[in-house]
Amino acid sequence: MIDLRSDTVTRPSDAMRLAMSRAEVGDDVYGDDPSVNLLEQEAAELSGKEAALFLPTGTQANLVALLTHCQRGEEYIVGQKAHNYLFEAGGAAVLGSIQPQPIDAAADGTLPLDVVASVIKPDDVHFARTKLLCIENTHNGKVLPLDYLQQAWVFTREKGLALHVDGARIMNAAVALNVPLSTLTQYCDTLTICLSKGLGAPIGSLLCGSAEYIKQARRWRKMVGGGMRQAGILAEAARYALLNNVERLREDHDNAQWLANALSAIGVEVMAPGAQTNMLFLKVPAHEAAQLGGWMKERGVLMSAGPVTRIVTHLDVSRSDLEKLVSLWKEFKQSINTQSSTTASKAIYG
Ligand SMILES: *Cc1c(COP(=O)(O)O)cnc(C)c1O
Repeated sequence: MIDLRSDTVTRPSDAMRLAMSRAEVGDDVYGDDPSVNLLEQEAAELSGKEAALFLPTGTQANLVALLTHCQRGEEYIVGQKAHNYLFEAGGAAVLGSIQPQPIDAAADGTLPLDVVASVIKPDDVHFARTKLLCIENTHNGKVLPLDYLQQAWVFTREKGLALHVDGARIMNAAVALNVPLSTLTQYCDTLTICLSKGLGAPIGSLLCGSAEYIKQARRWRKMVGGGMRQAGILAEAARYALLNNVERLREDHDNAQWLANALSAIGVEVMAPGAQTNMLFLKVPAHEAAQLGGWMKERGVLMSAGPVTRIVTHLDVSRSDLEKLVSLWKEFKQSINTQSSTTASKAIYG
């Protein structure tokens, strides 16, 4: 199967599995796992923060981040379509009594700072206390501009807010901008990174921040059930990913770009602004959208098909897989056209 649904479908390579099999381990809840300790130290250095924490999922990393930033009755400002508002089952509200204040993102994935300013609550008994701004980089594959990151940083300093970056795919952003991770993360208090997406690890996310912040986050992680024991097996997969699978994200970006051009050459509508990092969104006419997913699946291709179809490139997808997709899509369009001309002739003659 060629699986283009997400970069979460990537599987650990033989070399990564070998690294995992050789992991030195201990009980990480006691702080005894040398591989986890090494990973956390390396992640802190990489992101330019004092400390880092290894967690099983990005959802838990974002939840722990919010629980550490905000107390009960406090508020975070977040994108309407942001993962840590829309796609995390309301965890911050359910488990933290933290109020989200969602706002619409601009077309480039940024949260306009004048709008953010307008929803910050005054110090008044009627309101929740606004504590935190959350931005997402990349957002739907879009790389937030570096000057925006800097403006958001200065803005949050002026307003007395903390700034958290949901950086599930922040390595894609760093690679796309051709800068080290710390160039992006100098402009935030805390960030999360997913290791289990384009980086190819089976499990794992990181939360990075100040030493004091991470110390508190460690308690929250334990509370929500994220204290793992011999997690070094997973930490070695993560270390392997950070060492070997970051620079190669460029290939995924090139592949997405190539695919956008190839599909638009056969008349598939690539939605603006085109391929962004490792993602592209396609506008599929309703009568095609209904059949596309099933038709492709029968021929060995999985995708999140619909009127807006999302395709994600990753390390388990090669250029020749994408060539196959393009020729299948051509065939699909022909078969749909044949169907509709049969339907049309039925309508006329039948
Ligand atoms: C995938 C993702 C997460 C969390 O992912 P998990 O599936 O819980 O590991 C968080 N934020 C963004 C932007 C994501 O894409």
